[in-house]
Amino acid sequence: TLSDRLADTFKNLRGKGRLSEADIDATAREIRIALLEADVALPVVKEFVGAVKERARSEEVSGALNPAQQIIKIVHEELVTILGGETRRLRYAKSGPTVIMLAGLQGAGKTTLAAKLALWLKGQDKTPMLVAADLQRPNAVQQLQVNGERVGVPVFAPEPGNGTGDPVDVARASIEEARRKLHDVVIIDTAGRLGVDQALMQQAADIRDAVQPDEVLFVVDAMIGQDAVTTAQAFLDGVGFDGVVLTKLDGDARGGAALSIRSITGKPVMFAASGEKMTDFDLFHPDRMASRILDMGDMLTLIEQAEKAFDSEQSLKAAEKLATKGGFTLEDFLQQMMQIRKLGSMTKIMGMLPGMGQFRDQLENFDEREIDRIQAIIQSMTPAERDNPKIIDGSRRARIAKGSGRQVSDVNQLVDRFFEARKMMEQMARGGGVPGMPGVPG
Ligand code: GDP
Ligand code: MG
Repeated sequence: TLSDRLADTFKNLRGKGRLSEADIDATAREIRIALLEADVALPVVKEFVGAVKERARSEEVSGALNPAQQIIKIVHEELVTILGGETRRLRYAKSGPTVIMLAGLQGAGKTTLAAKLALWLKGQDKTPMLVAADLQRPNAVQQLQVNGERVGVPVFAPEPGNGTGDPVDVARASIEEARRKLHDVVIIDTAGRLGVDQALMQQAADIRDAVQPDEVLFVVDAMIGQDAVTTAQAFLDGVGFDGVVLTKLDGDARGGAALSIRSITGKPVMFAASGEKMTDFDLFHPDRMASRILDMGDMLTLIEQAEKAFDSEQSLKAAEKLATKGGFTLEDFLQQMMQIRKLGSMTKIMGMLPGMGQFRDQLENFDEREIDRIQAIIQSMTPAERDNPKIIDGSRRARIAKGSGRQVSDVNQLVDRFFEARKMMEQMARGGGVPGMPGVPG
């Protein structure tokens, strides 16, 4: 896989401040091969590799990742971006039924998809209706009716025995029917041919003009590879479309078609179908497709873990610094208390957050005035005493108590708590755990 090859290219390179030009060139070659193997169109490959090289040159190598991982991260992020970043959702009509028209070659998976989409829409609390506007193929109407029955969605079709009807009339009439029967989404299945031809394009364009769809979805078989791009371009010119549906992603296609179509037509991939079952259908997720194109799911998981581990390594270092002799002072202690106060006043909001319920009791019992007392006591100490509380003897404790309006026992308690906190931090630094805040529950 690409990740293995990159890892080979980058053996022994960990720790370099920046990737060398030779490293970047070697990587670019590997990425180029991987994308071409995934059936990404050549102009798209060129542009993409150029963008990755540019980023690899300008970015510092992160401490968390080795160079191979770093490049893979860049490649993955760029892929997600080029695939559209966020999933593009369906746009529903503001009033009246939302009209979705499907277009694409014969065998692309339109009729199957129509039913899958209808089922998915039912899951979104919609009441869809299917429309059989493919009157070309002998069994097309019946196929849609069978599929409609499977998902429990009504199908609008020309009268039986009247199979010679005009698809444009059927489509137009279906909108009226949907209004009457209060369906909020209409899905129009149309005819496809084996190849792109003028008559096919004209019919689809006529249906489009008759019903003014809110969304025209171009349905394309992910397995046809490079041909997907030429077909997409032809439909874009001949009919126009708003979004793409990729079908047959359960096959062994890497999905390079998604990348090419998106960057050449500028239209987002919105849905993906991945099997014969009616539930093998979902919104299209650019990040999942990016992993698939590069075939490096495991590597991405590894990268995430490395970055997390690095973060906790960083906080461990911070704890070590604090715990070194004299490092953690009463001043730090006060700062931490102030942070807890911030938490305390956020009790109500925090209680509403998932997972925070377990801390609610502690936070609610937390006495905010306690912090004011601690603050007053610490502020009555000299800077030298705050740095090193060991030098605070009995007579100084009495003075501090007086200065802050507290009892000597309060001062003693505070100093004890401070030493306890410091000991805890030292233990955590040695033991390898990630430190929390001393005195904070949980
Ligand atoms: P249409 O001509 O565009 O209407 O395409 P169909 O819906 O009739 O589908 C053509 C063939 O592809 C049928 O045999 C479907 O069962 C099959 N098909 C459709 N979608 C998928 C899919 O996501 N995965 C697989 N494996 N087969 C599919
Ligand atoms: Mg069909």
